[in-house]
Amino acid sequence: MSTLGTSWALDWMNRAAATIAEHRVELITLDRQIGDADHGENLDRGFAAVAPKFEATPPTTVPEVLKGVASTLMSVVGGAAGPLYGTALLRGSKAIGEEVDAAAVVAFLAAALEGVKARGKAEAGEKTMVDALTPALEAAKSVANAGGDAAAAWDAAATAAQEGAEATVPLIATKGRASYLGERAVGHMDPGARSTALILRAAADAAKDA
Ligand code: ADP
Ligand code: MG
Repeated sequence: MSTLGTSWALDWMNRAAATIAEHRVELITLDRQIGDADHGENLDRGFAAVAPKFEATPPTTVPEVLKGVASTLMSVVGGAAGPLYGTALLRGSKAIGEEVDAAAVVAFLAAALEGVKARGKAEAGEKTMVDALTPALEAAKSVANAGGDAAAAWDAAATAAQEGAEATVPLIATKGRASYLGERAVGHMDPGARSTALILRAAADAAKDA
């Protein structure tokens, strides 16, 4: 039942940057279908800016890592996703603590979800990243309640987030650009829910190898 520390957090953010770069075109395509085709490009630019910043000023704790990424995303990523991910990570950084066990994963996800809901004025079922974070939080809670460790909590959260992203396909969007499309958003996955699933999978992969 080992906890996760600063090297895990740094690995998470490196892997997040790598997976967002790898899925850049997919995210652009999803956002082209129900938005303005910039989600993959914006997020890729934001995560790519993290490594140089950390080289200049290395963070030394888990909260510092997450806070550093939050401020980078807020200043580099435009559109809706920059402030939303920035808020999620900033709130999460205040909740997670320096040694991450399953309860800390739950605390992070709860704070991140509350941040996105508050900033975006969004609830579950509106075809946004809330629809990935909500089941992720529930899955992490189940693992924590069953006595699982942080790696198991991240793994369950990432799987649930991807299922949540897939479940956005039949939804009509009522927040963000996709809401302008009405019924025409039906049949497409929400790009922000998909990128949330990718970022949580990066946390789980880093935890598995920690
Ligand atoms: P923009 O819509 O400004 O082009 P992005 O394309 O980067 O921004 O991000 C779009 C994603 O942001 C959506 O797929 C959705 O998941 C999320 N999103 C947009 N508006 C909101 C909101 N009000 N609340 C929560 N999430 C939102
Ligand atoms: Mg967009």
